Amino acid sequence: MSNNMKQIVTNSPEETFEAGRQLGLSAKPGDVYTLNGDLGVGKTVFTQGVAAGLGIKEHVNSPTFTIVQVYEEGRLPFYHFDVYRIGDIEEMDEIGYEDYFYGNGLCIIEWAELIEELIPADAKSITIEKNLEKGFDYRIITIRG
Ligand code: ADP
Ligand code: MG
Repeated sequence: MSNNMKQIVTNSPEETFEAGRQLGLSAKPGDVYTLNGDLGVGKTVFTQGVAAGLGIKEHVNSPTFTIVQVYEEGRLPFYHFDVYRIGDIEEMDEIGYEDYFYGNGLCIIEWAELIEELIPADAKSITIEKNLEKGFDYRIITIRG
């Protein structure tokens, strides 16, 4: 396991989108990222950038009513998880999560802490944080792994 850490400061949604796009451009098959941060911090903006970087034209939103949203038109399959509404961890088995987590696509998992025991040991993480002292639109994005 590597201990790389990268931090990117952004001051607009466009810059956060671009940070996501760069990740999408360089993603490798089987990459799994948890995506962490408070409501309204920019997780969806970042994820839309990731999709654009993979070459996905379809609109990407938070997968509110499904645990995983699958996009297959890009350079790699993109599996966008939001497990916020999971009732029981067995729901992950029901959707066949292993095919995604250990497959050849890129996984982004929101609310990963709710399924911590299922997250692959070599998963990387993306954390987006605000710092209101630095302005309303300031975000710091930390990528580890
Ligand atoms: P989340 O998915 O984390 O709940 P969203 O991506 O849906 O958050 O929303 C982020 C909101 O914050 C958007 O309204 C966006 O315009 C705004 N925003 C302001 N500054 C930034 C920034 N630097 N990066 C991302 N979003 C920003
Ligand atoms: Mg969102």
